[in-house]
Amino acid sequence: MYPEIIMTAMTRIAIIGGGPSGLMLARLLQLRGLSPVVFERDGHAGERPQGGSLDLHGDTGQRAMRLAALEAEFVAAARPEDQGDRLYDAGGTLLFDRDGEGDDRPEIDRSALRDILLASLAPDTVRWGSRVAAIEPDSSGCQIAGERFDMVVGADGAWSRVRPLLSDAQPIYEGVAFAELGFEAALHPDVAAVTGQGKMFAVGENRALITQLNGHGHIRGYAGLRAPEAVAQHWARLGPEQLRVALLKAFEGWAPALLRVIETGTIVGSRPLHALPIGHRWTSRPGVTLIGDAAHLMSPFAGEGVNLALADAADLADALASGGSWAAVAAHEAAMAARAVVAAEKSAAGLRAVFSAAGVRPVLDHYRERLGTDV
Ligand SMILES: Cc1cc2nc3c(=O)[nH]c(=O)nc-3n(C[C@H](O)[C@H](O)[C@H](O)COP(=O)(O)OP(=O)(O)OC[C@H]3O[C@@H](n4cnc5c(N)ncnc54)[C@H](O)[C@@H]3O)c2cc1C
Repeated sequence: MYPEIIMTAMTRIAIIGGGPSGLMLARLLQLRGLSPVVFERDGHAGERPQGGSLDLHGDTGQRAMRLAALEAEFVAAARPEDQGDRLYDAGGTLLFDRDGEGDDRPEIDRSALRDILLASLAPDTVRWGSRVAAIEPDSSGCQIAGERFDMVVGADGAWSRVRPLLSDAQPIYEGVAFAELGFEAALHPDVAAVTGQGKMFAVGENRALITQLNGHGHIRGYAGLRAPEAVAQHWARLGPEQLRVALLKAFEGWAPALLRVIETGTIVGSRPLHALPIGHRWTSRPGVTLIGDAAHLMSPFAGEGVNLALADAADLADALASGGSWAAVAAHEAAMAARAVVAAEKSAAGLRAVFSAAGVRPVLDHYRERLGTDV
């Protein structure tokens, strides 16, 4: 038997993490008259680059924006014109080029999405510079840094501090080292020309270069390589120019037009790609739950992570506001896990296709299958 959920304006809800899932949840709870507190480790909204452009899908990310009454803000900031896809082989041959017209997955910069969500919140909802190190559960809630809350929601991403209260699962290295680069399109017309109006993948044996148009004339690039974890960890510790040298060596022999991506980009850094085990679940525990990457971290090769994060927030807000028992949250957790399995399997398959010993062929087959055409 689960306890009743009694939600009043006095209910103390701590959301750990001010990423897409945490901010969306805060917004939706405030629309229902509740006053959650968001603990965010960043010192302020602009402390670190927020990462690349995201496409929001109709039934998940866009649905959440509608429920949050932020559709107009989303439409004003979104870039439906940037949904194109290109695919090259390592020799620089363009194998696939589609402008994405008619697709309903408008792109939005991650920082623009965060700004929209932040602007929608009551003042002082987010406690910046608040890295949560420990959560101490008690009989009817939990203590965070000596403060009592009735409920805690882990929206704190890959290395969640809340997750250990519910599960022993740890993110697992997915076998790919992933470096990130940045460009100004105006200063890098050659990279802009290769990228086109959206995303481009250049795929070779066990490695890939990716570039993606962002707003305000920015382009974001990624260079990924299948590598042992020790190599991925080593890349993560390299300085920018050392990393560039390592990347140029890893992509030796690729077409000069593609190598320009590595030669000319500003190196942002490198990280090993991790994912939680597919199907990650936990036994529901009243007063504590997880959403977004904290619940179901997956690699970015299905473009679902942020969409699930926003949809999780919308569904948890509904469950909490349903006025029933914690059973509604437990049911939401089960539905969230089932939805995430589908996306996680797609992400894992996407990663296997992009970083394959067979080179570009599996990705080309994927595009053909998706479009049902013989491109
Ligand atoms: C390279 C890359 C590209 C991606 N591309 C896409 C894409 O195209 N489409 C897509 O849908 N998804 C993409 N994703 C996935 C997407 O970024 C995530 O799924 C999404 O950001 C998850 O949102 P979240 O709110 O759950 O977690 P996060 O965005 O990770 O936010 C967690 C927040 O919690 C804060 N935090 C962490 N620990 C603590 C703590 N102890 N105390 C306080 N605060 C804390 C962090 O600072 C952060 O602000 C990509 C991911 C990567 C790595």
